[in-house]
Amino acid sequence: MSECVFCRIAEGRASATILHEDDQLLAFRDINPQAPTHILVIPREHVRTLDDLEDRHAEIVGRMHLVAQQVARELGIAEDGYRTVFNCRAAAGQSVFHIHLHLLGGRRMHWPPG
Ligand code: AMP
Repeated sequence: MSECVFCRIAEGRASATILHEDDQLLAFRDINPQAPTHILVIPREHVRTLDDLEDRHAEIVGRMHLVAQQVARELGIAEDGYRTVFNCRAAAGQSVFHIHLHLLGGRRMHWPPG
């Protein structure tokens, strides 16, 4: 049994507000939102960090962005714009070691992001 919280969500053993689910990916609401809309897109496969990706993951990483695009449209933030982010390891503030694409929207984003 996995102790990874995102594996547990993917396996239906931890609760989440799921907006998209298919055989490879899930999208669900972040429990500590940093914007009015804050969604996480994850692969079902446990990959610890962006730095652990391999060539065989190219399609899934592309599909993560297409799911973000789809969810952004469904939630009505696509027209105004949104931000997608991968945090990789400690210096970037990664806190859950199962890769996830943050989809943030519903407010004006700042740059540099800090
Ligand atoms: P990161 O800092 O990039 O690793 O982002 C991890 C994100 O996962 C944070 O924004 C957390 O709020 C979020 N998070 C952690 N546990 C859960 C959970 N059980 N359900 C939904 N989001 C979570």
